[in-house]
Amino acid sequence: MAFVVTQLCKDCVDTACVAVCPVDCFYQPKEVSEETPNMLLISPDECIDCAVCEPECPWEAIYPEEDVPEVFESDIALNELCDTERDKFDLAEVEEDTPPSAEEVAANKAKYGL
Ligand code: SF4
Repeated sequence: MAFVVTQLCKDCVDTACVAVCPVDCFYQPKEVSEETPNMLLISPDECIDCAVCEPECPWEAIYPEEDVPEVFESDIALNELCDTERDKFDLAEVEEDTPPSAEEVAANKAKYGL
């Protein structure tokens, strides 16, 4: 079992989670495409299930695999691409960012019916 970054991260990409991960298992696509959107992903092979990242994400985009909402089910396979197609990804780096407002977080969730 691993933690999963969902589409709630797409085009938001706050790296607070990257800063706290003890095993550096967050990745970003080298090239953004339909298959590899602009979002962070967690390597299921490397994640040690410590849960430290989940509360750090200001967009509330990270879930334990067993709790991923149905609307984001395909994101489980998307995160697995980090392991199966590693050459398409770079290790994510921490970047300074302004956290979103509560209204922005709610509007982002509403796009997915949450
Ligand atoms: Fe990293 Fe822990 Fe989050 Fe897995 S659960 S991605 S090991 S911080």
